[in-house]
Amino acid sequence: TRPANCPPDVEDLGRATWTFLHTTAAYYPDKPTVTQRASMLSLLRSLPTLYPCGHCASHLGENMKEHPPRVGSRSELSKWLCERHNDVNVRLGKEKFDCAKVDERWKDGPPDGSCD
Ligand code: FAD
Repeated sequence: TRPANCPPDVEDLGRATWTFLHTTAAYYPDKPTVTQRASMLSLLRSLPTLYPCGHCASHLGENMKEHPPRVGSRSELSKWLCERHNDVNVRLGKEKFDCAKVDERWKDGPPDGSCD
């Protein structure tokens, strides 16, 4: 195992990025302002240019051409992002995540209160 203070590899970077993106989507407004929508679009559209894993960035850019970001509401964005993450999961041979559980995973925690 690599020491914890190593620079992130593709997996560490992916986990940290998904944490940031899903959490940001979970707290995005139900009714975003024009400015909030534009900022979210700009954040997402910058990833294919700036994400520091070249082949990941390039796959994401192609994927986003087919599936343009949906930033109209919190639930729309959370679902869109879950689907994009699932596209990566499938490409990497991982299991798909049940997008009905995206709020439980990234916002509310499980009903048994084990994350409270
Ligand atoms: P991750 O996939 O990082 O997921 C973290 C946690 O999110 C999971 O434990 C689960 O609880 C939850 N989760 C899983 N799926 C979903 C979902 N659909 N919606 C909501 N929550 C979910 N790696 C490569 O090797 N090649 C690539 O081309 C590549 N492209 C990437 C593109 C992007 C934009 C990003 C952000 C990452 C990419 N990665 C890529 C990294 C890859 O997606 C994983 O982050 C990495 O392999 C670590 O996987 P993991 O199994 O720990 O869980």
